[in-house]
Amino acid sequence: MQCEMCGRDTELVISLIEGTELRVCRDCAKHGKVLRPVPSAPQPRKKPKPAEPASPEPEIIEVITDDYAKKVKEARERLGLKQKDFAKKLSEKEALLHKVETGKYMPSLLLARKLEHALNITLVEKHEEKHDTENKRRTETFTIGDMISIKKR
Ligand SMILES: [Zn+2]
Repeated sequence: MQCEMCGRDTELVISLIEGTELRVCRDCAKHGKVLRPVPSAPQPRKKPKPAEPASPEPEIIEVITDDYAKKVKEARERLGLKQKDFAKKLSEKEALLHKVETGKYMPSLLLARKLEHALNITLVEKHEEKHDTENKRRTETFTIGDMISIKKR
């Protein structure tokens, strides 16, 4: 423990100096009246880690599932619809549907919704986007470091 007067790291006593109880070393204690030895202090508790700042709601992004082509094709065939008829049903071009079913064209979210509805399948997956937050934190750290180096100049 450090003496509150001279800062020496040694055994301390509680001394009444100028009306104030101070934890001081034996040398400094001579300036006042020694009241009692400092009770063996409990190990200074480490400050609890500050609670993680409440992370913002993770961003939910909607993505088209990777196997959309297979899903659409299989679901359509299950319904016994020809590409042509199904395209008509969706009021989309047959060529577009063909591209979707062969994996050459990833449907837009809007089209995916339409396909989901018509085929009773799931094409849109929701993902929590967490990478962004981490990137932001890294950027902040960099910025603070940057500021410090600017101050040093
Ligand atoms: Zn001292």
